[in-house]
Amino acid sequence: MTLNSELMSRRQAAVVRGVGHATPVFADRALNSELWDVEGRRYVDFAGGIAVLNTGHRHPLVIKAVRDQLDRFTHTCFQVAPYDSYVELAERLNALAPISGPLKSILLTTGAEATENAVKIARAATGRSGVIAFTGGFHGRTAFASVMTGKVVPYKKGVVSPLPGVWHVPFPISGSEVTVDDALRYIGFIFKADIDASQVAAIIIEPVQGEGGFHQAPPELMRGLRRICDENGIVLIADEVQTGFGRTGKMFAMEHYDVKPDLICVAKSLAGGLPLSGVIGRAAIMDAAEPGGLGGTYAGHPLACAAALAVLDVFEQENLLARANEIGARLRDAIDRFAQANHLLPISRARGLGAMIAFDVLKQRGSNEPDAEATSQVTRLAHQNGLILLSCGTTANTIRILVPLTASDDIVDEGLSILESCLVA
Ligand code: PMP
Repeated sequence: MTLNSELMSRRQAAVVRGVGHATPVFADRALNSELWDVEGRRYVDFAGGIAVLNTGHRHPLVIKAVRDQLDRFTHTCFQVAPYDSYVELAERLNALAPISGPLKSILLTTGAEATENAVKIARAATGRSGVIAFTGGFHGRTAFASVMTGKVVPYKKGVVSPLPGVWHVPFPISGSEVTVDDALRYIGFIFKADIDASQVAAIIIEPVQGEGGFHQAPPELMRGLRRICDENGIVLIADEVQTGFGRTGKMFAMEHYDVKPDLICVAKSLAGGLPLSGVIGRAAIMDAAEPGGLGGTYAGHPLACAAALAVLDVFEQENLLARANEIGARLRDAIDRFAQANHLLPISRARGLGAMIAFDVLKQRGSNEPDAEATSQVTRLAHQNGLILLSCGTTANTIRILVPLTASDDIVDEGLSILESCLVA
Protein backbone atom coordinates (compact mmCIF):
# COMPACT_ATOMS: atom_id res chain seq x y z
CA MET A 1 0.00 0.00 0.00
CA THR A 2 1.25 3.48 -0.85
CA LEU A 3 1.25 5.78 2.17
CA ASN A 4 0.09 9.40 2.19
CA SER A 5 3.29 10.26 4.08
CA GLU A 6 5.52 8.68 1.40
CA LEU A 7 3.71 10.56 -1.36
CA MET A 8 3.96 13.76 0.66
CA SER A 9 7.77 13.48 0.91
CA ARG A 10 7.99 12.78 -2.84
CA ARG A 11 5.71 15.74 -3.50
CA GLN A 12 7.83 18.02 -1.34
CA ALA A 13 10.99 16.94 -3.18
CA ALA A 14 9.53 17.18 -6.70
CA VAL A 15 6.82 19.86 -6.63
CA VAL A 16 7.28 23.58 -5.97
CA ARG A 17 6.58 25.12 -2.57
CA GLY A 18 4.39 27.79 -4.20
CA VAL A 19 1.57 25.31 -4.81
CA GLY A 20 0.01 25.03 -1.38
CA HIS A 21 -1.85 22.00 -0.03
CA ALA A 22 -4.92 22.06 2.16
CA THR A 23 -4.73 18.44 3.28
CA PRO A 24 -2.10 15.68 3.41
CA VAL A 25 -4.66 13.34 1.82
CA PHE A 26 -3.66 11.77 -1.51
CA ALA A 27 -6.80 10.86 -3.42
CA ASP A 28 -7.35 7.36 -4.74
CA ARG A 29 -10.99 7.53 -5.83
CA ALA A 30 -14.13 9.55 -5.19
CA LEU A 31 -17.87 9.28 -5.65
CA ASN A 32 -20.51 11.99 -5.13
CA SER A 33 -19.59 13.50 -1.74
CA GLU A 34 -17.13 10.88 -0.56
CA LEU A 35 -13.44 10.44 -1.23
CA TRP A 36 -11.06 7.56 -0.42
CA ASP A 37 -7.33 8.10 0.00
CA VAL A 38 -4.46 5.87 -1.11
CA GLU A 39 -4.52 4.16 2.30
CA GLY A 40 -8.18 3.21 1.86
CA ARG A 41 -9.54 5.77 4.38
CA ARG A 42 -12.90 7.34 3.61
CA TYR A 43 -13.65 11.07 3.87
CA VAL A 44 -16.81 13.16 3.61
CA ASP A 45 -15.97 15.88 1.10
CA PHE A 46 -17.01 19.37 2.22
CA ALA A 47 -14.59 21.01 -0.26
CA GLY A 48 -15.75 19.69 -3.64
CA GLY A 49 -12.32 20.38 -5.14
CA ILE A 50 -12.86 24.08 -4.20
CA ALA A 51 -16.41 24.59 -5.45
CA VAL A 52 -15.99 22.48 -8.61
CA LEU A 53 -18.25 19.58 -7.70
CA ASN A 54 -21.73 21.00 -7.17
CA THR A 55 -22.95 17.89 -9.04
CA GLY A 56 -20.65 15.64 -6.99
CA HIS A 57 -17.66 13.50 -7.90
CA ARG A 58 -18.23 11.44 -11.05
CA HIS A 59 -21.93 12.07 -11.51
CA PRO A 60 -23.13 9.16 -13.69
CA LEU A 61 -24.60 11.49 -16.36
CA VAL A 62 -21.40 13.54 -16.51
CA ILE A 63 -19.24 10.41 -16.76
CA LYS A 64 -21.46 8.99 -19.52
CA ALA A 65 -21.30 12.23 -21.51
CA VAL A 66 -17.50 12.32 -21.23
CA ARG A 67 -17.20 8.60 -22.17
CA ASP A 68 -19.41 9.14 -25.23
CA GLN A 69 -17.27 12.10 -26.25
CA LEU A 70 -14.06 10.07 -25.73
CA ASP A 71 -15.36 7.66 -28.35
CA ARG A 72 -15.89 10.48 -30.87
CA PHE A 73 -12.80 12.74 -30.54
CA THR A 74 -10.81 14.26 -27.70
CA HIS A 75 -9.41 17.36 -29.34
CA THR A 76 -9.59 19.24 -32.60
CA CYS A 77 -9.19 22.81 -31.26
CA PHE A 78 -12.38 24.85 -31.63
CA GLN A 79 -10.45 27.38 -33.74
CA VAL A 80 -9.49 24.64 -36.22
CA ALA A 81 -12.43 22.24 -36.52
CA PRO A 82 -15.31 23.46 -34.30
CA TYR A 83 -17.82 21.14 -32.65
CA ASP A 84 -21.49 21.34 -31.77
CA SER A 85 -21.13 20.91 -28.00
CA TYR A 86 -19.27 24.25 -27.67
CA VAL A 87 -21.99 26.02 -29.64
CA GLU A 88 -24.81 24.31 -27.74
CA LEU A 89 -23.22 25.17 -24.41
CA ALA A 90 -22.81 28.83 -25.45
CA GLU A 91 -26.51 28.85 -26.46
CA ARG A 92 -27.58 27.38 -23.12
CA LEU A 93 -25.38 29.75 -21.10
CA ASN A 94 -26.68 32.75 -23.07
CA ALA A 95 -30.24 31.65 -22.32
CA LEU A 96 -29.54 31.22 -18.58
CA ALA A 97 -27.36 34.22 -17.71
CA PRO A 98 -29.00 37.16 -15.91
CA ILE A 99 -27.71 39.78 -18.37
CA SER A 100 -29.81 41.96 -20.69
CA GLY A 101 -29.66 40.29 -24.13
CA PRO A 102 -28.73 39.56 -26.84
CA LEU A 103 -25.82 37.58 -25.41
CA LYS A 104 -22.70 35.80 -26.65
CA SER A 105 -20.21 33.54 -24.88
CA ILE A 106 -16.62 32.42 -25.10
CA LEU A 107 -15.39 29.20 -23.49
CA LEU A 108 -11.94 28.87 -21.95
CA THR A 109 -10.28 26.56 -19.44
CA THR A 110 -9.58 28.13 -16.04
CA GLY A 111 -11.18 30.77 -13.84
CA ALA A 112 -8.16 33.07 -14.18
CA GLU A 113 -8.45 32.81 -17.95
CA ALA A 114 -12.10 33.84 -17.67
CA THR A 115 -11.36 36.95 -15.57
CA GLU A 116 -8.41 37.95 -17.77
CA ASN A 117 -10.46 37.51 -20.94
CA ALA A 118 -13.37 39.48 -19.46
CA VAL A 119 -10.98 42.40 -18.94
CA LYS A 120 -9.51 42.01 -22.45
CA ILE A 121 -13.04 42.10 -23.87
CA ALA A 122 -13.98 45.14 -21.77
CA ARG A 123 -10.81 46.90 -22.93
CA ALA A 124 -11.52 46.09 -26.57
CA ALA A 125 -15.11 47.35 -26.23
CA THR A 126 -14.25 50.60 -24.44
CA GLY A 127 -10.79 51.41 -25.83
CA ARG A 128 -9.78 52.03 -22.19
CA SER A 129 -7.40 50.21 -19.86
CA GLY A 130 -8.16 50.89 -16.17
CA VAL A 131 -9.74 48.27 -13.92
CA ILE A 132 -11.36 48.67 -10.51
CA ALA A 133 -11.51 45.67 -8.18
CA PHE A 134 -12.12 45.11 -4.46
CA THR A 135 -9.96 44.37 -1.45
CA GLY A 136 -10.35 40.74 -0.44
CA GLY A 137 -11.48 39.81 -3.97
CA PHE A 138 -9.94 36.81 -5.71
CA HIS A 139 -9.75 36.58 -9.49
CA GLY A 140 -6.98 34.01 -10.11
CA ARG A 141 -3.25 33.49 -9.99
CA THR A 142 -2.04 34.23 -13.52
CA ALA A 143 -0.08 37.45 -14.00
CA PHE A 144 -2.95 39.89 -14.53
CA ALA A 145 -5.57 37.96 -12.54
CA SER A 146 -3.31 38.13 -9.48
CA VAL A 147 -3.00 41.89 -9.96
CA MET A 148 -6.82 42.11 -9.75
CA THR A 149 -6.87 39.84 -6.69
CA GLY A 150 -7.17 42.07 -3.61
CA LYS A 151 -4.73 40.33 -1.27
CA VAL A 152 -0.94 40.82 -1.27
CA VAL A 153 0.24 37.75 0.67
CA PRO A 154 0.43 35.10 -0.74
CA TYR A 155 -0.92 36.08 -4.17
CA LYS A 156 1.03 39.20 -5.20
CA LYS A 157 4.12 39.74 -3.09
CA GLY A 158 7.20 39.59 -5.31
CA VAL A 159 5.31 38.45 -8.42
CA VAL A 160 3.19 41.30 -9.79
CA SER A 161 4.04 44.52 -11.60
CA PRO A 162 3.96 47.66 -9.46
CA LEU A 163 2.22 49.56 -12.31
CA PRO A 164 -0.75 47.31 -12.92
CA GLY A 165 -3.53 49.73 -13.94
CA VAL A 166 -5.80 48.22 -11.30
CA TRP A 167 -7.22 50.10 -8.30
CA HIS A 168 -8.73 48.36 -5.27
CA VAL A 169 -11.74 49.69 -3.43
CA PRO A 170 -12.40 48.62 0.20
CA PHE A 171 -15.05 45.90 0.20
CA PRO A 172 -17.92 46.66 2.57
CA ILE A 173 -18.44 43.78 4.97
CA SER A 174 -21.38 43.94 7.37
CA GLY A 175 -20.15 44.69 10.89
CA SER A 176 -16.82 46.10 9.64
CA GLU A 177 -15.84 49.74 9.52
CA VAL A 178 -16.32 50.04 5.71
CA THR A 179 -19.85 50.94 4.61
CA VAL A 180 -21.36 50.80 1.11
CA ASP A 181 -21.24 54.61 1.02
CA ASP A 182 -17.53 54.54 1.87
CA ALA A 183 -16.84 52.07 -0.94
CA LEU A 184 -18.79 54.09 -3.50
CA ARG A 185 -17.18 57.37 -2.37
CA TYR A 186 -13.76 55.72 -2.63
CA ILE A 187 -14.39 55.08 -6.33
CA GLY A 188 -15.04 58.84 -6.66
CA PHE A 189 -11.67 59.51 -5.00
CA ILE A 190 -9.94 57.14 -7.45
CA PHE A 191 -11.55 59.05 -10.36
CA LYS A 192 -10.19 62.30 -8.89
CA ALA A 193 -6.76 61.16 -7.72
CA ASP A 194 -5.63 58.32 -10.00
CA ILE A 195 -7.51 57.76 -13.22
CA ASP A 196 -10.32 59.65 -14.95
CA ALA A 197 -13.56 57.66 -15.14
CA SER A 198 -13.33 57.94 -18.93
CA GLN A 199 -10.19 55.77 -18.87
CA VAL A 200 -11.68 52.95 -16.78
CA ALA A 201 -12.66 49.88 -18.82
CA ALA A 202 -14.19 47.68 -16.11
CA ILE A 203 -15.23 47.16 -12.53
CA ILE A 204 -14.90 43.52 -11.47
CA ILE A 205 -16.64 42.10 -8.40
CA GLU A 206 -17.58 38.74 -6.93
CA PRO A 207 -21.26 38.81 -5.81
CA VAL A 208 -20.10 36.73 -2.84
CA GLN A 209 -16.36 36.87 -2.15
CA GLY A 210 -15.13 33.27 -2.17
CA GLU A 211 -11.50 33.13 -1.09
CA GLY A 212 -12.11 36.43 0.75
CA GLY A 213 -14.43 34.75 3.27
CA PHE A 214 -17.94 34.24 1.80
CA HIS A 215 -18.97 37.88 2.25
CA GLN A 216 -21.88 38.93 0.07
CA ALA A 217 -21.72 42.22 -1.82
CA PRO A 218 -24.62 44.26 -0.38
CA PRO A 219 -27.42 44.96 -2.92
CA GLU A 220 -26.92 48.75 -2.48
CA LEU A 221 -23.28 48.30 -3.48
CA MET A 222 -24.22 46.41 -6.64
CA ARG A 223 -26.81 49.09 -7.47
CA GLY A 224 -24.22 51.83 -6.89
CA LEU A 225 -21.69 50.08 -9.14
CA ARG A 226 -24.29 49.67 -11.87
CA ARG A 227 -25.05 53.40 -11.66
CA ILE A 228 -21.34 54.37 -11.80
CA CYS A 229 -20.80 52.05 -14.77
CA ASP A 230 -23.86 53.44 -16.61
CA GLU A 231 -22.85 57.05 -15.98
CA ASN A 232 -19.30 56.51 -17.17
CA GLY A 233 -19.50 53.85 -19.89
CA ILE A 234 -17.69 51.27 -17.72
CA VAL A 235 -18.24 47.50 -18.11
CA LEU A 236 -19.51 45.73 -14.96
CA ILE A 237 -18.00 42.25 -14.66
CA ALA A 238 -19.42 39.73 -12.17
CA ASP A 239 -16.84 37.09 -11.28
CA GLU A 240 -19.10 34.07 -10.62
CA VAL A 241 -16.31 31.51 -10.77
CA GLN A 242 -16.98 30.36 -7.19
CA THR A 243 -20.63 31.47 -6.78
CA GLY A 244 -21.74 30.06 -10.12
CA PHE A 245 -23.70 27.00 -11.03
CA GLY A 246 -26.25 26.76 -8.31
CA ARG A 247 -24.07 27.13 -5.26
CA THR A 248 -26.05 30.12 -3.96
CA GLY A 249 -29.48 28.55 -4.62
CA LYS A 250 -29.83 30.30 -7.95
CA MET A 251 -27.91 29.36 -11.09
CA PHE A 252 -26.00 32.66 -10.90
CA ALA A 253 -25.55 34.67 -7.69
CA MET A 254 -26.34 37.83 -9.70
CA GLU A 255 -29.95 36.61 -9.79
CA HIS A 256 -30.14 37.65 -6.12
CA TYR A 257 -29.76 41.30 -7.23
CA ASP A 258 -32.09 43.71 -8.99
CA VAL A 259 -29.34 44.97 -11.31
CA LYS A 260 -27.58 43.09 -14.09
CA PRO A 261 -23.87 42.93 -14.94
CA ASP A 262 -22.54 43.30 -18.51
CA LEU A 263 -20.27 40.25 -18.35
CA ILE A 264 -20.21 37.14 -16.14
CA CYS A 265 -17.15 34.92 -15.60
CA VAL A 266 -17.90 31.24 -15.00
CA ALA A 267 -15.70 28.20 -14.29
CA LYS A 268 -15.39 25.58 -11.52
CA SER A 269 -18.73 23.70 -11.16
CA LEU A 270 -19.68 24.50 -14.77
CA ALA A 271 -18.23 21.20 -15.98
CA GLY A 272 -18.58 18.92 -12.93
CA GLY A 273 -14.87 18.26 -12.47
CA LEU A 274 -13.47 18.90 -15.93
CA PRO A 275 -11.52 22.09 -16.65
CA LEU A 276 -13.78 24.61 -18.32
CA SER A 277 -14.48 28.30 -17.92
CA GLY A 278 -16.18 31.03 -19.88
CA VAL A 279 -17.29 34.60 -20.20
CA ILE A 280 -20.94 35.32 -20.97
CA GLY A 281 -21.94 38.87 -21.89
CA ARG A 282 -23.79 41.43 -23.90
CA ALA A 283 -23.12 40.64 -27.56
CA ALA A 284 -22.11 44.21 -28.45
CA ILE A 285 -19.32 44.09 -25.85
CA MET A 286 -18.35 40.44 -26.38
CA ASP A 287 -17.86 40.98 -30.12
CA ALA A 288 -15.43 43.90 -29.70
CA ALA A 289 -12.24 41.83 -29.81
CA GLU A 290 -10.78 41.05 -33.25
CA PRO A 291 -11.00 37.47 -34.65
CA GLY A 292 -7.93 35.63 -33.36
CA GLY A 293 -7.63 37.97 -30.38
CA LEU A 294 -9.44 35.54 -28.07
CA GLY A 295 -9.36 31.77 -27.61
CA GLY A 296 -6.74 29.14 -26.81
CA THR A 297 -5.61 25.72 -27.97
CA TYR A 298 -7.60 23.83 -25.34
CA ALA A 299 -10.24 26.51 -24.68
CA GLY A 300 -13.73 25.00 -24.56
CA HIS A 301 -12.32 21.44 -24.63
CA PRO A 302 -14.74 18.85 -26.10
CA LEU A 303 -14.64 16.57 -23.03
CA ALA A 304 -15.37 19.54 -20.76
CA CYS A 305 -18.18 20.84 -23.00
CA ALA A 306 -19.81 17.39 -22.98
CA ALA A 307 -19.52 17.34 -19.18
CA ALA A 308 -20.99 20.85 -18.84
CA LEU A 309 -24.03 20.03 -20.97
CA ALA A 310 -24.63 17.02 -18.70
CA VAL A 311 -24.19 19.24 -15.61
CA LEU A 312 -26.96 21.54 -16.86
CA ASP A 313 -29.21 18.50 -17.40
CA VAL A 314 -28.46 17.25 -13.89
CA PHE A 315 -29.44 20.62 -12.43
CA GLU A 316 -32.80 20.40 -14.14
CA GLN A 317 -33.48 16.71 -13.54
CA GLU A 318 -32.45 16.69 -9.87
CA ASN A 319 -33.78 20.15 -9.03
CA LEU A 320 -30.42 21.08 -7.55
CA LEU A 321 -31.27 24.76 -7.00
CA ALA A 322 -33.94 23.81 -4.48
CA ARG A 323 -31.54 21.26 -3.01
CA ALA A 324 -28.88 23.99 -2.58
CA ASN A 325 -31.31 25.94 -0.41
CA GLU A 326 -32.23 22.83 1.62
CA ILE A 327 -28.57 21.95 2.21
CA GLY A 328 -27.85 25.58 3.07
CA ALA A 329 -30.62 25.65 5.68
CA ARG A 330 -29.31 22.41 7.22
CA LEU A 331 -25.77 23.78 7.40
CA ARG A 332 -26.95 27.09 8.87
CA ASP A 333 -29.04 25.42 11.58
CA ALA A 334 -26.15 23.24 12.68
CA ILE A 335 -23.55 26.04 12.62
CA ASP A 336 -25.82 28.43 14.51
CA ARG A 337 -26.30 25.69 17.10
CA PHE A 338 -22.49 25.20 17.35
CA ALA A 339 -22.12 28.98 17.77
CA GLN A 340 -24.26 28.86 20.89
CA ALA A 341 -22.62 25.82 22.50
CA ASN A 342 -20.30 26.76 25.35
CA HIS A 343 -18.24 23.58 25.13
CA LEU A 344 -17.23 24.45 21.54
CA LEU A 345 -14.71 26.98 20.24
CA PRO A 346 -16.05 30.53 19.88
CA ILE A 347 -17.40 30.87 16.35
CA SER A 348 -19.64 33.32 14.52
CA ARG A 349 -23.09 32.46 13.25
CA ALA A 350 -23.34 31.02 9.73
CA ARG A 351 -23.33 33.39 6.76
CA GLY A 352 -23.68 32.98 3.01
CA LEU A 353 -26.24 32.44 0.30
CA GLY A 354 -27.87 29.10 -0.54
CA ALA A 355 -25.34 26.34 0.09
CA MET A 356 -22.35 28.72 0.02
CA ILE A 357 -22.01 28.75 3.81
CA ALA A 358 -19.19 29.80 6.11
CA PHE A 359 -18.42 30.87 9.67
CA ASP A 360 -15.52 32.51 11.46
CA VAL A 361 -13.41 31.07 14.26
CA LEU A 362 -12.92 33.76 16.89
CA LYS A 363 -10.63 34.41 19.84
CA GLN A 364 -13.59 35.10 22.14
CA ARG A 365 -17.31 34.50 22.08
CA GLY A 366 -19.11 37.60 20.83
CA SER A 367 -15.91 39.31 19.63
CA ASN A 368 -14.79 39.78 16.04
CA GLU A 369 -11.17 38.92 16.72
CA PRO A 370 -10.01 36.27 14.25
CA ASP A 371 -8.26 33.11 15.41
CA ALA A 372 -6.31 31.83 12.40
CA GLU A 373 -4.38 29.30 14.46
CA ALA A 374 -7.51 27.66 15.87
CA THR A 375 -8.97 27.64 12.33
CA SER A 376 -6.07 25.67 10.90
CA GLN A 377 -6.27 23.35 13.90
CA VAL A 378 -9.96 22.71 13.06
CA THR A 379 -9.25 21.88 9.40
CA ARG A 380 -6.29 19.67 10.41
CA LEU A 381 -8.41 17.77 12.93
CA ALA A 382 -11.17 17.45 10.33
CA HIS A 383 -8.86 15.65 7.90
CA GLN A 384 -7.68 13.36 10.69
CA ASN A 385 -11.32 12.59 11.53
CA GLY A 386 -12.50 11.92 7.98
CA LEU A 387 -13.76 15.28 6.70
CA ILE A 388 -12.20 17.31 3.88
CA LEU A 389 -12.70 20.89 5.02
CA LEU A 390 -11.33 24.20 3.74
CA SER A 391 -10.67 27.53 5.34
CA CYS A 392 -10.52 30.92 3.60
CA GLY A 393 -10.84 34.61 4.41
CA THR A 394 -8.55 37.63 4.45
CA THR A 395 -7.70 36.88 8.08
CA ALA A 396 -7.54 33.09 7.52
CA ASN A 397 -10.18 32.35 10.17
CA THR A 398 -13.17 31.41 8.00
CA ILE A 399 -14.32 27.81 7.58
CA ARG A 400 -16.22 27.40 4.30
CA ILE A 401 -18.48 24.56 3.24
CA LEU A 402 -18.79 23.59 -0.41
CA VAL A 403 -20.37 20.15 -0.12
CA PRO A 404 -21.81 18.81 -3.40
CA LEU A 405 -25.48 19.70 -3.91
CA THR A 406 -26.05 16.02 -4.71
CA ALA A 407 -25.03 15.01 -1.15
CA SER A 408 -27.68 13.16 0.87
CA ASP A 409 -28.90 14.53 4.21
CA ASP A 410 -27.08 11.63 5.91
CA ILE A 411 -23.74 12.61 4.39
CA VAL A 412 -24.27 16.30 5.21
CA ASP A 413 -25.14 15.36 8.80
CA GLU A 414 -22.14 13.03 9.03
CA GLY A 415 -19.85 15.86 7.89
CA LEU A 416 -21.47 18.28 10.35
CA SER A 417 -21.04 15.91 13.26
CA ILE A 418 -17.32 15.47 12.40
CA LEU A 419 -17.08 19.26 12.19
CA GLU A 420 -18.71 19.59 15.61
CA SER A 421 -16.22 17.12 17.11
CA CYS A 422 -13.36 19.25 15.71
CA LEU A 423 -14.74 22.39 17.36
CA VAL A 424 -14.56 21.00 20.90
CA ALA A 425 -12.61 23.64 22.83
N1 PMP B 1 -12.31 33.88 -9.49
C1 PMP B 1 -12.83 33.37 -8.35
C2 PMP B 1 -13.98 34.08 -7.71
C3 PMP B 1 -12.30 32.21 -7.79
O1 PMP B 1 -12.81 31.71 -6.65
C4 PMP B 1 -11.22 31.55 -8.44
C5 PMP B 1 -10.60 30.28 -7.88
N2 PMP B 1 -10.65 30.11 -6.53
C6 PMP B 1 -10.72 32.12 -9.62
C7 PMP B 1 -11.30 33.27 -10.13
C8 PMP B 1 -9.58 31.48 -10.37
O2 PMP B 1 -9.95 30.26 -10.88
P1 PMP B 1 -8.84 29.22 -11.38
O3 PMP B 1 -8.14 28.74 -10.14
O4 PMP B 1 -9.61 28.16 -12.09
O5 PMP B 1 -7.93 29.98 -12.28
